[in-house]
Amino acid sequence: MRILIVEDEKKAAAYLSKGLKESGYRVDLAENGEEGVHLATQEAYDLVILDVMLPKLSGWEVIKALRQKQPELRVLFLTARDSLEDKVKGLELGADDYLIKPFAFSELLARVRSLLRRSSGKMTDLIQIADLKIDQVKHKAERQGQRLDLTPKEFALLVFMALHSGEVLSRTLIAEQVWDINFDSDTNVIDVAVRRLRQKVDNPFEPKLIHTIRGMGYVLEAR
Ligand code: CA
Repeated sequence: MRILIVEDEKKAAAYLSKGLKESGYRVDLAENGEEGVHLATQEAYDLVILDVMLPKLSGWEVIKALRQKQPELRVLFLTARDSLEDKVKGLELGADDYLIKPFAFSELLARVRSLLRRSSGKMTDLIQIADLKIDQVKHKAERQGQRLDLTPKEFALLVFMALHSGEVLSRTLIAEQVWDINFDSDTNVIDVAVRRLRQKVDNPFEPKLIHTIRGMGYVLEAR
């Protein structure tokens, strides 16, 4: 997943970029509105995070330009003022969501994920990766036609990883998203859970789908 950040404040841009990269996204930066529109139309992004107060072209003008050129592109705008007028204006111009500065990074990440889910068309009940088939409604997963015997937690973990196939998922992120808790201190729980899932999903089958990215986390993908 590729994200473009359009933000002229260098510190803020660096902070966002670092956090998003750590969460497994590919990130580019534009320092002003003009560069933002240029990059967004040249490269294939899944999402643009856009500051409103920008040099050259304002965030509003960027949204207008993007809506004409790239109607499918998701836009999350950042506004410093908690003003109803700004929110309405941004959404009317066609932005998909907004955040008021200052915000917690976890809040931004949650919005980003939600927007990317909406745009990726992955909100489907059936997920298929290589010969792995997951039916979210029937709570069934199978490989090569053989049903996988998973606990509810293992199933939830598999669905989460499959929905984010190709993205490196950190232990902290998995803990937050699948266990709905923060436990930075004991991410060993995640390692154990992934190992168990792997025994069921990968051990009896080829190709292997769950991969460890050393020092970063896990990724589920067909290589
Ligand atoms: Ca700014």
